[in-house]
Amino acid sequence: MKILYKCVTILFFLTINICLAYSQDKGKLRLIMIGAHPDDCDMGAGGTAIIFAKMGYAVKFVSVTNGDAGHQTMKGAALAKRRFAEAQEAGKRFGVVYDVLNNHDGELLPNLDVRLQVIKKIREWDADVVIAPRPNDYHPDHRYTGVLVQDAAYMVAVPNVAPETPALKKNPVFLYFQDRFQKPSPFRPDIAIDISDVYAQKIHAMDAHESQMYEWLPWIGHYLEQVPANKQEREKWLAQKRFAEITPSVRLSLEKWYGKEKAATIKNAEAFEVCEYGAQPTDEEKKTLFPMLPK
Ligand SMILES: [Zn+2]
Repeated sequence: MKILYKCVTILFFLTINICLAYSQDKGKLRLIMIGAHPDDCDMGAGGTAIIFAKMGYAVKFVSVTNGDAGHQTMKGAALAKRRFAEAQEAGKRFGVVYDVLNNHDGELLPNLDVRLQVIKKIREWDADVVIAPRPNDYHPDHRYTGVLVQDAAYMVAVPNVAPETPALKKNPVFLYFQDRFQKPSPFRPDIAIDISDVYAQKIHAMDAHESQMYEWLPWIGHYLEQVPANKQEREKWLAQKRFAEITPSVRLSLEKWYGKEKAATIKNAEAFEVCEYGAQPTDEEKKTLFPMLPK
């Protein structure tokens, strides 16, 4: 009898939890961020992803390549396996689902095969918002990821393209991550998000990409000797290394969304540009898309 009572109680709370999860998720927007490598979305929008995840939103990161070229001593399947495990750990720390597509790192091309992979990912996630790099960048994989996602815009709503995955009912809003490239046009921060309160958590999640943060990027950047050996020291060092000054144009965008007084106090921010090929949100709709912005 006691066991039966316990079972009924467990079942009751389980049902409550499922109903609660459903009602929390119901009507909430779904976001997908697409980068070239397993650590790109993390740097571009990790803080914003943490805030969304804390608010109960469904966020997915996708890496279009498996990262099997990004190391000075490892390569191929062994490196891809290590980077997949790092991405899963980072995903846990961000509170997002982390997918890695099996395309070779450093060899990405904007062909039909990969475009269809990207369309499928956006449709399966039933995304309302898609964030990706602009096609202006020093790294060809980043540039082509930008092209691939632009090529997926609109097509995600065309049922006769990739018909095995049901098309979206409407074209999502497509956004670009912030970058520093000036040609052919500089990044325009249409939306800017204050991530000061979650910056430490963003760094902690990025710390999961050990092969990149403490090995490959310092090696290719010629600062390997700066990396502390101690695990705790490393994370502190990473927070300083990855600290980015807010640019004047992003500061102006913060002023628009948060007001001048609040904007002046913001230490860390992430910004996004609206892509012309997706749905075009009004300022009011941007506040709905980014509900952490003050009303
Ligand atoms: Zn990258």
